[in-house]
Amino acid sequence: MSLGADLYGIADLRPHETAIIKQGGEMVSGYPFAISVGIRLLDTIVDQIPNRSQRTVRVSYRSHTYDVVNGRLDVISSLLASHLQKEGYRCMPVPASERIDDERICAMFSHKMAAHLAGLGWIGKSCLLVTPQYGPRVRWTTVLTDYPFSRFGIPMDPRCGNCEECTKACPTGAFTGRMFDRDEPREARFDARKCDQYFKDMEKQAPKPVCGMCVFICPHGRNIAKNAKR
Ligand code: SF4
Ligand code: SF4
Repeated sequence: MSLGADLYGIADLRPHETAIIKQGGEMVSGYPFAISVGIRLLDTIVDQIPNRSQRTVRVSYRSHTYDVVNGRLDVISSLLASHLQKEGYRCMPVPASERIDDERICAMFSHKMAAHLAGLGWIGKSCLLVTPQYGPRVRWTTVLTDYPFSRFGIPMDPRCGNCEECTKACPTGAFTGRMFDRDEPREARFDARKCDQYFKDMEKQAPKPVCGMCVFICPHGRNIAKNAKR
């Protein structure tokens, strides 16, 4: 937390080795634990998402929810990994936001999975990690390690209930409205190609495309932001 994180937890990855290798390959395999670290996004930036047709909003959002926060997360994971290495443990800091496969549209490791297993939130109908404190207004990084942790988080049960706000707000209709089920593929809940194509189309119209309606609309983040203004 002294490095600037707002949330952290420990995930036990051992029961999920097969899924981890399937997504990211051997490079991310063989680590029994993960340190999940989150930084809360600024409400003043996220609350501007409905005005994203304005270039000032897009520039601020891209800077302060992607570039700056990802950089801060990468510094935190690098410092944690260096410390663990000095202590004699294997570790792998996972980049905060780097896609490795354009076909599957995925990164080398799922930060959301680690945060969920670390007990920091649930995977919502938006496929985002939703925290009780800040909703989905958090970005994540992960350090994989063989440090012998003896205590881990417990995955949180979903609290979406009957809410369908993200499903209705997504301009591409990318969400099916199904709750997360680890036995189902992501496609059962989320068509990542629709979101990806939307960004490509927007890029042809104007620089620095932004959406994030699924982040903005979730009541678990929005109500907290509203209450903080009172
Ligand atoms: S970023 Fe926009 S288009 Fe993509 S899933 Fe979220 S709401 Fe839908
Ligand atoms: S907007 Fe509603 S359904 Fe979507 S993740 Fe948030 S609580 Fe769940």
